[in-house]
Amino acid sequence: MSQQKSLQTLLSHSDYTAPEGFDAFPVPIHHASTVVFKDVAAMRSRSWQHKNSYTYGLHGTPTSFTLEARLAEIEQARHCLLAPSGLAAIALVNLGLLKTGDDVLLPDNVYGPNREMALWLAQDHGISARLYDPMTGAGIAALIQPNTRLLWTEAPGSVSMEVPDIPALCAAAHARDVLVAIDNTWSAGLAFPAFDHGADIVMQALTKYQSGGADVLMGALLTRDDALSQKLGLAHMRLGMGVGMDDVYLILRSLPSMPLRFHAHDMSARHLATWLKARPEITTVLHPALEDCPGHANWKRDFTGAGGLFSVIFDARFSEDQTDRFVDSLQLFKIGFSWGGSNSLCVPYRMATMRHDWPHTGQLVRFNVGLENPLDLIADIERAMAIAFS
Ligand SMILES: *Cc1c(COP(=O)(O)O)cnc(C)c1O
Repeated sequence: MSQQKSLQTLLSHSDYTAPEGFDAFPVPIHHASTVVFKDVAAMRSRSWQHKNSYTYGLHGTPTSFTLEARLAEIEQARHCLLAPSGLAAIALVNLGLLKTGDDVLLPDNVYGPNREMALWLAQDHGISARLYDPMTGAGIAALIQPNTRLLWTEAPGSVSMEVPDIPALCAAAHARDVLVAIDNTWSAGLAFPAFDHGADIVMQALTKYQSGGADVLMGALLTRDDALSQKLGLAHMRLGMGVGMDDVYLILRSLPSMPLRFHAHDMSARHLATWLKARPEITTVLHPALEDCPGHANWKRDFTGAGGLFSVIFDARFSEDQTDRFVDSLQLFKIGFSWGGSNSLCVPYRMATMRHDWPHTGQLVRFNVGLENPLDLIADIERAMAIAFS
């Protein structure tokens, strides 16, 4: 010891360092607000922008850099930014790319809070936000204006599950220099290679399959283009969208099992969807892999799998009270938002208040199929139907 330290100082400047040579599979959790620089020159030479060094906890530690790199591998992207929630990642796209006078197009079935954000930007921030028919495909060209800057897509759409023609939307947008952002959460980046189909920005709610535990909120933005990544990175820095490293660790822990979990969700969901399709209580099953679903042909052409989320339309002879009773009578399916965890969930939606020109009169109920045995889930649905519709 070169200098005698008081206990008070020793507690912040311990003489102990752990032995070198520890090696294990888990990625270490590096917590930091302050990052310490070896000298002033090191401090001055580092930049938060390039992710080849560390500057401040908000801009990442080895733990978050590792998750970003792994997510980029899944999605075949070059760059990744983490945000504190899926919605925060959406906000980064909107605030990073749009300015007063710009126009943004969103599908009519877009994730509700994204629509809400666009309406807010339109109302208070001088941005024009317009909704388009998610099935318009190449028809989007007619809606693109000189000030249109950004086109949001979602595949499939939240709740109503239409599968858009992403290549056609992207081709029309790119012909007019409009950027395309896709909410690719449903496929987890596993069943839809969004960049290969033309997307410029991929957004993922890691809250869903990447977490898999119904215990973390986080989002990600992925890009291939360097300049676009820098632009979004600037918004990320300006808005202070740091993430907690314990949360990052939970996602790193879940990621290796994600393809297996996703496949299990997919198989069970298709089993249930097919069973529900044969039931007299149900008129339409909105599952992209089934023919009832608008855009099923797009799914068949562009997707390599499906997630655990789908919706059904009950026969119009059942009132909302009756379908609510059905939902209340389920035991294995719990009532709750979000999805991607191991537990099955179920939510009734009032579509007439959410969509323009909604074609169905029967009640819509959305199922998230978890990792339970699908035969038990079917028995649960059958029991709840008997209680609610007898
Ligand atoms: C959940 C979800 C989001 C938002 O993610 P949060 O982490 O809950 O903010 C965005 N898009 C889709 C399609 C989602 O399902």
